[in-house]
Amino acid sequence: MSMDLKDKTPGELERIVVDLGGRKYLAAYIFQFIHVEDAVEVSQITPLSKAFRWQLTARGYHISSLTVADKLTDKDGTAKYLFELGDGNRIETVLLLDDKRRTLCVSTQVGCTMGCLFCATAKIPFGRNLTAGEIADQVNAVQADTGRIGNVVYMGMGEPLANYAAVVKSLGILNHPKGKNIGIRHMTVSTCGIVPAIRKLAGENVHPRLAVSLNAPSDDLRTRLMPINAKYPIADLLKAVRFYQAKTRQRVTFEYVMIKGLNDSTTQAALLAKLLKGLACNVNLIEHNPHPRCKYAGSGAERIRTFESLLEDAGIETVVRFKMGRSIRAACGQLGADWAAT
Ligand code: SF4
Repeated sequence: MSMDLKDKTPGELERIVVDLGGRKYLAAYIFQFIHVEDAVEVSQITPLSKAFRWQLTARGYHISSLTVADKLTDKDGTAKYLFELGDGNRIETVLLLDDKRRTLCVSTQVGCTMGCLFCATAKIPFGRNLTAGEIADQVNAVQADTGRIGNVVYMGMGEPLANYAAVVKSLGILNHPKGKNIGIRHMTVSTCGIVPAIRKLAGENVHPRLAVSLNAPSDDLRTRLMPINAKYPIADLLKAVRFYQAKTRQRVTFEYVMIKGLNDSTTQAALLAKLLKGLACNVNLIEHNPHPRCKYAGSGAERIRTFESLLEDAGIETVVRFKMGRSIRAACGQLGADWAAT
């Protein structure tokens, strides 16, 4: 069992407090001091008596914190943090500034096992799942460094739904009114398409926005680009998306990485439009971001605009995402690229 108090929900903290003979309400102070006051040691939770703080510490309870090993800032304002975890593993987290929105792209795993061909994270050795505390702490650390984070997207290193329990728990922690209090509609979980987990998420108490990394309009191409598609083909994936929508009444975002000559033809745009017809959704077109060890190139502005207008003509709301953070390899699909290159 984890002894990290940062990794606990308010309910779990209550049980810990009561087990140690304390009053239930003290748990709220612990949660608040960790997630709002940025306490890094139990001794800093001053509403608790000295004796109770000593008791917690003596039992092995502690508060983990990420260490900033490096921070790079792009001229467009994007900042990439390299965090070191308690066990020496490293992850990257990206702060995106878009007009007045401050969005944090958090990692959920050290590396990723999903093997998407266009993604740098897939090239680094898989380490482990992050805990809920480590996921939430990326928000704590960047907020302490730069100010209030309004939106969180689970699109960094790792497949969020492959670390299901910790991801759902972290959503609850970040959403809690006594903590960071980030609205659930301001948090997006992106998945490569783990169908049973999408269905399970629909049954949770917290319903983040769902983004699906689609990237191809046909099973043969998608399976080539994203091996998960062999297990959960597009038809099953879209059924799960419809199920999530029916339960949550939310629009779903489909991400589509534009790769030159592979998935960006007018025929493929028409196929994609047909596939998504009738779904309450929008499509984000993201030009493939280059990185070492990846042979693909981006589609280029002209082809992306053509693809966009074909989707728009078919009635599908489409947004072309800017290439934020490219120069510091903080853009989509580039996380971990610096390690992959070594
Ligand atoms: S795109 Fe996402 S799911 Fe695919 S390998 Fe990269 S991090 Fe993993």
